[in-house]
Amino acid sequence: MKLSVIGCGYLGAVHAASMTSLGHDVVGIDVDESKIASLRAGRAPFFEPGLSAILESGLASGRLAFSTDIAEAADADVHFIAVGTPQRRGAYAADLTYVDAAVAALVPMLRPGVLVVGKSTVPIGTAAGLADQIRETGAELAWNPEFLREGFAVQDTVTPDRLVYGVPEGESGVAARATLDRVYRDAVAAGTPVVVTDYATAELVKVAANAFLATKISFINAMAEISEVVGADVTHLADAIGHDARIGRRFLNAGVGFGGGCLPKDIRAFVARAEELGRGESVAFLTQVDAINRRRRDRVVELALAAVGGEPHRARVAVLGLAFKPDSDDVRDSPALDVAVRLHGLGVDVVATDPEAVPNARRLHPQLSFTAAPEDALQGADAVVLVTEWPEYRALDPVIVGGLVRNRTIIDGRNVLDPAAWRAAGWTYRGMGRP
Ligand code: NAD
Repeated sequence: MKLSVIGCGYLGAVHAASMTSLGHDVVGIDVDESKIASLRAGRAPFFEPGLSAILESGLASGRLAFSTDIAEAADADVHFIAVGTPQRRGAYAADLTYVDAAVAALVPMLRPGVLVVGKSTVPIGTAAGLADQIRETGAELAWNPEFLREGFAVQDTVTPDRLVYGVPEGESGVAARATLDRVYRDAVAAGTPVVVTDYATAELVKVAANAFLATKISFINAMAEISEVVGADVTHLADAIGHDARIGRRFLNAGVGFGGGCLPKDIRAFVARAEELGRGESVAFLTQVDAINRRRRDRVVELALAAVGGEPHRARVAVLGLAFKPDSDDVRDSPALDVAVRLHGLGVDVVATDPEAVPNARRLHPQLSFTAAPEDALQGADAVVLVTEWPEYRALDPVIVGGLVRNRTIIDGRNVLDPAAWRAAGWTYRGMGRP
């Protein structure tokens, strides 16, 4: 099939290259010239395992192209909308400017038989609001939310754990489903569950999934707060309740909390939309989920200040990690970067490191000191703060690191180190919700 993907960021670039790997002809469109230049040259504009390989093979096959000119997408049978829906400035609601602009640019090119497929995460009611202008051209609209995880984005796109199609009622809905089944032919043939539903449910599925995941993380972080008061160990607690299959152990890791370009802004946009719909009380708990999450960042900053004897101006602190999670260079609303920035703001001499995210972090916060080499960050540090659980930080040897720092105090903001091993090597170890 001939596909276009409008918006080639974390979602769109992966989607475009993955669809080519499934055998389709794809053109990716973005308004960002440098991103398109990089993609055209076969260079992933961000760190995502496996993306460069499928980009290169897609470009070599001649079935993958990128352009800043939307006219290049004119002959596509299916147009995916993958533009950003960030938090609106000074509000909780989502900014739909980019979605509206993408649809406005597409409309003059649409013709009967074409399907526009929304993948961006949007407030409930967005698809219904866009459907009329698309239908006037004879084309149809479906909403097909995306569940990929950064760090596993290629795998999640090529072999998703479920497909959700929000389609209109009647014959046009049947046709839209058939088109999407052809796009995702391999996944459908492999027995991937397909949920076919209406627009509102498809939109709600995405924000509900993110709200649930955020709630699970904040739940265990709330237990960490209680554990800190009573001297309990939240990691044992998580293991114990996680053995209950109804609860499950995944996403029950207490730490500095969630971040990234999705969870925080999606739960806030959900609260804003529910309020507009007159059902604010139904998701008011998400405001607490958000607050618990933000308090965990305060806690790490507090522990770091205590570690340097309350004298930030005299202290040098090594911050290990800047990305919001490992295997990504994404620093959008990253707890790790936030901790680094706040410590710096308090007068601490912060030296921050990350295997992939230093360039993005530097662009946003040039006032910080960065290094790609963890040894340079650790050298002479009065305290060490681990805030992104990259495998190389989990594997640090407390004896070797002990030889680099000035003072052996580590704050394990992700609860990934073995406290006994670090204490045995002469360290003061502080975890999150652990004695
Ligand atoms: P992003 O900021 O990385 O990418 C968005 C891209 O859209 C940018 O490259 C931007 O230049 C481009 N763009 C903006 N306006 C445009 C226009 N009019 N025409 C063409 N391109 C335009 O964001 P992202 O992380 O890829 O997220 C995109 C959407 O996908 C959001 O709604 C997000 O919530 C959702 N989503 C993201 C993920 C993820 O892991 N990143 C997962 C699931 C869903």
